[in-house]
Amino acid sequence: MVVVMTAGATPEQVDAVVARVETAGGSAFVSRGVQRTIVGLVGDVVAFQGLNLRAMPGVGEVVRVSKPYKLVSRENHPDASTVTVGARGDVHIGPDTFVLIAGPCAVETPEQTFEAAQMAKDAGATMLRGGAYKPRTSPYAFQGLGKRGLEILAEARELTGLPVVTEVVDPADVPLVAEYADMLQIGTRNMQNFPLLQAVGSSNKPVMLKRGLSATYEEWLMAAEYVAQRGNLDIVLCERGIRTFETATRNTLDVSAVPMVHALSHLPIVVDPSHSAGKRDLVVPLTRAAIAVGADAVMVDVHADPTAALCDGPQALYGDELAELARACKELPPMVGRRTA
Ligand code: PEP
Ligand code: MN
Repeated sequence: MVVVMTAGATPEQVDAVVARVETAGGSAFVSRGVQRTIVGLVGDVVAFQGLNLRAMPGVGEVVRVSKPYKLVSRENHPDASTVTVGARGDVHIGPDTFVLIAGPCAVETPEQTFEAAQMAKDAGATMLRGGAYKPRTSPYAFQGLGKRGLEILAEARELTGLPVVTEVVDPADVPLVAEYADMLQIGTRNMQNFPLLQAVGSSNKPVMLKRGLSATYEEWLMAAEYVAQRGNLDIVLCERGIRTFETATRNTLDVSAVPMVHALSHLPIVVDPSHSAGKRDLVVPLTRAAIAVGADAVMVDVHADPTAALCDGPQALYGDELAELARACKELPPMVGRRTA
């Protein structure tokens, strides 16, 4: 933290700031400039926040230079992290590779799930997505198959060899979901469900943390910090579109999130163009954009018969669109310095 004194601050006022910082166990370095005096603080930022320095006479501004999130910050960890997924440890989400994750929005039946998993595999995806617990906006909409859905996903993994990412909604379900899944997804609506974040933080599986509908980067990274603070640093962030004034798309894909988050944090970032757009026609162009801005992975919805899908049919890709997406996912990553799986 840095304290910027007002132009007319007296030496006694500066000394009082230094003395108060020292009561919190910190040290202060005074730099007397021509126009202003700046006091740099070294120590525990959280303890400094309780000192109410801003209210002291002669204090102009208190600037926080150290981020409020630490474990997930770039400041604290300059090299980009790679998160490894799957029992065989063969999926690496990080700066050198580009990963395609595909699958149905929801697990509906074994056949529908196996068909979608096969579509994903044929398109070159190296991970399978699919929801067994579906946090739907309407309580009357399909809520997912629960434990049966997890069993079907595990069978789809057997059939295809693709590790599975699936959402967990209730902290009490974390041990069960972690038993079946290779990666635990925290959905948009739960980004600030702190007991859930702590529960996945205490699990032994990597976590995909989706951005809240209207969360700032800082709020999102603070949510990731909750997971990390419990000792689980295998976290991948997921940009899935935010709420804006635009109604033509379901959400607005914030492409700036990718380079911004890479600058602020060492964690990898996935883009979900399906939930961003809500329209299948936009999924391929948004995937191209995601790769161009440096996404570490893309996650898309696929369905053999989207017209019959119980969840998010309008955004699910048909086979031919998936083939076009697969081409983009092969051709573009090498142009931005990445290997495809
Ligand atoms: C999903 O990926 O299935 C999902 C529900 O997404 P979101 O939480 O981004 O709405
Ligand atoms: Mn969905």
